[in-house]
Amino acid sequence: MQKPVDFFRKEVNELKASGLNWNLRELQSASTPNCMVDGKKALMLCSNNYLGLSDHPKVKAAAIAAVKKYGAGSGSVRAIAGSMKLHFELEDTIASFKKNESALYYQTGFAANAGFLPAFLREGDLVISDELNHGSIIDGVRLGKAEKAVFPHANMDGLRKVLEEAETKNYRKTLIVTDGVFSMDGDIAPLDGIQKLASEFGAFTYVDDAHGDGVLGKNGSGIVNHFNLHGKIDVDMGTFSKGFGVVGGYVSGNQDMTEFAFNKSRTWLLSGSAPPATAAACMAAIKVCQKEPQLFKNLWDNTHYFKKKLKEAGFNTGKSQTPITPVILGENEVARAFSQKLFENGIFALPIVFPMVPKGTARIRTMMTAAHTRKQLDFAAETFEKIGKELKVLH
Ligand SMILES: *Cc1c(COP(=O)(O)O)cnc(C)c1O
Repeated sequence: MQKPVDFFRKEVNELKASGLNWNLRELQSASTPNCMVDGKKALMLCSNNYLGLSDHPKVKAAAIAAVKKYGAGSGSVRAIAGSMKLHFELEDTIASFKKNESALYYQTGFAANAGFLPAFLREGDLVISDELNHGSIIDGVRLGKAEKAVFPHANMDGLRKVLEEAETKNYRKTLIVTDGVFSMDGDIAPLDGIQKLASEFGAFTYVDDAHGDGVLGKNGSGIVNHFNLHGKIDVDMGTFSKGFGVVGGYVSGNQDMTEFAFNKSRTWLLSGSAPPATAAACMAAIKVCQKEPQLFKNLWDNTHYFKKKLKEAGFNTGKSQTPITPVILGENEVARAFSQKLFENGIFALPIVFPMVPKGTARIRTMMTAAHTRKQLDFAAETFEKIGKELKVLH
């Protein structure tokens, strides 16, 4: 029998030997462009706080007011005594922002995927996933009882083939599930094509808009708005932990769908509801999106500006169409050394290495926000160029 101490020691040693362990850096300020990390002033380039809302005065004020009125915790799971006025108001706000009939708020996006998908995916069903879908979708699918199929990334001919094959097998229902924006490359799913195929083959559709919230569509209302597919996507799922700057997940769609979701999602039924501060901050974040379109404009101006600078310097930023801007470098060691040098030069951006991305495409993943200034982006681009030359990535 393996002893616990031996097991954990061996695992940790193996992780360290493979270089795949996480060395956690300590953020000692708010998640703002000028931040403090491990005792050092740094320029933040790896936060998902796309609109800068985590530090927005109105969002912070809403959280403080909610604590004063409703306390620090909700006291229960939603289904028993933990459904506060704030949760219901938040759900109405999400539904109207997303132009859907209804919405259900979960504690996190992970809880939404890991709660909804297993409830929906039953024996005799088929679920078809994009091969690059997020881990929380993969785990949700694993917990379900449906048969699983995968289609090549964003490839509509590939998806059609899987659907044609499925037609011969008489599944009870078929679900196509995709990320809206893919987090490693920053490309956008062809949701219009997916929806057309789904409607041709009678499949359900589920989109995870984690990186589209606050980023795509009018005022950041997401990918469904971006493609003008209102009412045509069965489950419009997303998160508050990225563009909205807080934390929490949701599914949005018609009333029956959300009623099904809350009666059947175990993550929702069996886990305490979000604290008042969180629910209030999420609601405030949506309202800021609606009232301050300038933030959205800044985000995209910064995105175009920084991408252009990196490309002019000779870097490969892949096929990104969004503020997620990968700087593809090659081998794992190069990306790690690059990140270390960036940090020494006052820039906080992490490497993404194999096996998280294909071999030979290790990268620094940068993320633009509305809060970055031109001066900060110039400094970042110059520093990237300098290190690129030092490490002979650029010539
Ligand atoms: C981050 C992310 C999630 C998880 O959302 P949380 O609210 O942080 O739990 C789910 N799906 C995708 C695509 C994500 O990028």
